[in-house]
Amino acid sequence: MSGLLSVFFHLLLLFKLVAPVTFRHHRYDDLVRTLYKVHNECPYITRVYSIGRSVKGRHLYVLEFSDYPGIHEPLEPEVKYVGNMHGNEVLGRELLLQLAEFLCEEFRNANQRIVRLVEGTRVHIMPSMNPDGYEVAAAQGADISGYLVGRNNANGVDLNRNFPDLNTYVYYNEKHGGPNHHLPLPDNWKSQVEPETEAVIHWIRSFNFVLSANLHGGAVVANYPYDKSLEHRVRGVRRTANTPTPDDKLFQKLAKVYSYAHGWMHQGWNCGDYFPDGITNGASWYSLSKGMQDFNYLHTNCFEITLELSCDKFPRQEELQREWLGNREALIQFLEQVHQGIKGMVLDENYNNLAEAVISVSGINHDVTSGDHGDYFRLLLPGTYTVTATAPGFDPETVTVTVGPGEPKLRSIGPREEKRKKDYLLEGFHVTVKPLSHHLPESRVLFAFPHSLPEVNFHLKRSIPQATPTRRVPNPGHGRRVLPKKVQPRVS
Ligand SMILES: [Zn+2]
Repeated sequence: MSGLLSVFFHLLLLFKLVAPVTFRHHRYDDLVRTLYKVHNECPYITRVYSIGRSVKGRHLYVLEFSDYPGIHEPLEPEVKYVGNMHGNEVLGRELLLQLAEFLCEEFRNANQRIVRLVEGTRVHIMPSMNPDGYEVAAAQGADISGYLVGRNNANGVDLNRNFPDLNTYVYYNEKHGGPNHHLPLPDNWKSQVEPETEAVIHWIRSFNFVLSANLHGGAVVANYPYDKSLEHRVRGVRRTANTPTPDDKLFQKLAKVYSYAHGWMHQGWNCGDYFPDGITNGASWYSLSKGMQDFNYLHTNCFEITLELSCDKFPRQEELQREWLGNREALIQFLEQVHQGIKGMVLDENYNNLAEAVISVSGINHDVTSGDHGDYFRLLLPGTYTVTATAPGFDPETVTVTVGPGEPKLRSIGPREEKRKKDYLLEGFHVTVKPLSHHLPESRVLFAFPHSLPEVNFHLKRSIPQATPTRRVPNPGHGRRVLPKKVQPRVS
């Protein structure tokens, strides 16, 4: 009997080892089961949580990957993926479930790249932001699903047109002065948004997210902010004006990292449309107001792009494996981008953490703030930057830092370094030719993020009341500069 049992268990084990990852569409119950299955397989590096409920009461589940799930470790960046915001655009939902299974499996296989990612990054994956819309679309099925059936939530609202419009304020501030980041929510914002939107707004305010992507379908292109055009659309003209953010080059690079790591997005010709490099500024494609990516950038520290991943919004089940193989490397590489730039602590003289200190980079009119633990993250392309930290009641502190393709290093002010060659794929990466896992074709060249970013920490000294002039005399020899007017304490 024990011999039979042993054979049975060996067969079971064998089956488990060779069982292929199943590529199928997941209805709500199946999605929930899959998230908990991954959690049960990787209990020490995952956590399942819900950020709230849809109109019909379905949970908006998130699966978190971290070496300490549920805990923010100072200097460890938070990154997120959101799928299926439009209920009928379903590929993102399936790719994120595949990604969850992949991260768990590869971590257990001791894949060094994935181990390092999970140990150095807190990854939040929300496969579906619109579970009600999905059920409507899925009830029709892949073949007969109409182009818009299930797109909206159960109240018939397009969730990607449902966030507070902060662009109008920032476009005004750019001309007339005023905050360039963390723009406040309108007083009555809760009455203007859907339950799903409200849950997401609470979510992105409660984590200090640094990087994010929002997964859609209906085209194949990586779309970066702003989505809302600065100019009004001219009647009859399809394309509206390119409306770049102050971080335009960085956003272009983030979008290119995805498109070039993707199997075919970078080729540009997809779904009967052409986008050079497979990327586009949102507004130059078509202007969109109250979208989620602009809101992330203007209200929080999070840099979000929107990924359009399939011509067919509801691909047939047979397509899913090919789509996963086309997106897998891009999904991993995009997460690794959160380790580009600078990060550090903002402390006072007694080494107390200073939350909501403002970090500004000279020449980029978009500040970020330190989180509750006093840590900040500023995504930057390779280059030399003058960075200033300010906090109410403290003297500002300015340093010059070089973010390099190699190890970034902190320096005192000096002659400007030679401008570095722009090669968006090789910037800042140590190139390895080691395959991601035994499942990957060996021909793929892979990239990994630098092992550890040096920290650019700030120790702010308390201003001496009255004795301190409101404007500091610039002293170029020590890297001090006049505190620009735009640098203001965060408006909450
Ligand atoms: Zn969409």
